[in-house]
Amino acid sequence: MFFHVILTTHCNLQCRYCFGESLEDFDEGFNDAEVDYDLPSKVNYNIDLLDKFSRKDPECILTFYGGEPLLCADKIKQIMDNVDAKHFMIQTNGLLLDKLEPKYINRFHTILVSIDGEEALTDYYRGNGTFRKVLDNVKLIKQNGFRGELIARMTVMERTDIYKQVRWLLHNDEFSFSSVHWQLNAGFWENDYQRRNFEQWSQTGYIPGVKQLARFWVDQMEKSGAVLKLYPLLGIAYSLLHNEKNCLLRCGGGWINYAIQTDGCIIPCPTMWGMKKYYLGHINDADPLELRKIFVNQQPCIGCSNLNVCGGRCLYANVTKRWSDEAYGKVCNTVAELVEAVKTEVPRIQRLLKEGKIKLNDFDYIKYNGCEIIP
Ligand code: SF4
Ligand code: SF4
Repeated sequence: MFFHVILTTHCNLQCRYCFGESLEDFDEGFNDAEVDYDLPSKVNYNIDLLDKFSRKDPECILTFYGGEPLLCADKIKQIMDNVDAKHFMIQTNGLLLDKLEPKYINRFHTILVSIDGEEALTDYYRGNGTFRKVLDNVKLIKQNGFRGELIARMTVMERTDIYKQVRWLLHNDEFSFSSVHWQLNAGFWENDYQRRNFEQWSQTGYIPGVKQLARFWVDQMEKSGAVLKLYPLLGIAYSLLHNEKNCLLRCGGGWINYAIQTDGCIIPCPTMWGMKKYYLGHINDADPLELRKIFVNQQPCIGCSNLNVCGGRCLYANVTKRWSDEAYGKVCNTVAELVEAVKTEVPRIQRLLKEGKIKLNDFDYIKYNGCEIIP
């Protein structure tokens, strides 16, 4: 099982798609869900409880999460020193990676670092100076011996040219990432669809960019035999090549990848923070292997022809329905086009497999590592 360990609600950035949107959406509710607004801002349970909980699952993987988890570097060290987990991972904005000693950094199996592409774009979304600091820090941790997987985690919205920015992250003069994942800022806030230009951008920018990217991805296989770890493409291609049917939610939220709040309560995913209806137990006495599972079981996913590949995209978006049916449909259109873009390339991939240029296990990846696959 995978658990996001939410260490703090505080963050040292004020990104447009997070802090900026929360200002605009202030005071909006969550349909019928009662929300606990009094949760502690930092972990208030005993770390021994987390150890006891984690030991019940020999495959337990803990991912530090926030807010910004590195604001709680001491807590991270305490947990890594005292909790028995198979692996530790972290999702971070990267600004404080230099503040955790290499002996801890180098123990991370995976680090997901938020970066949206080149400097102008990253700083536009995340604030001036963010890009430089993040790049300095990822260079530093590599120099200091980090050998785990480092994933560039992009948040994508209307300023993003997906084709250009993903390629930049893969190959540039500063620091080239070998793994990239992206997530659309879509369906997470109540009122943003009206003030944004999502539909036009998705149709004229994002979708054509994704198609170009899928072609580029297979071109690279052809040229050099490399199956680049572009998670949305990789995960979908994996499913198509293995003829997987009936995919469950691909982030694992609510069935294999849960979150632990700062008070020790377990929820399906970090975004469902405080939503009492979805509390699934407490680390005090819950068994990680026996947690109730929550599946995407509402419209529009039920009956959708892409459900078996998409898995429902996002449990939070599905249960909160923050976007209208029409707006939701625009997001689903991006999913359908993404799946189609990969499907179009499958015959070429199969030819390369047959020729021995690439191998089927080149498409293997660690599932539920924080990459949602469906953006
Ligand atoms: S494409 Fe949309 S409707 Fe279909 S399964 Fe995914 S999220 Fe649900
Ligand atoms: S995709 Fe949705 S349900 Fe899954 S982890 Fe992200 S916010 Fe949670």
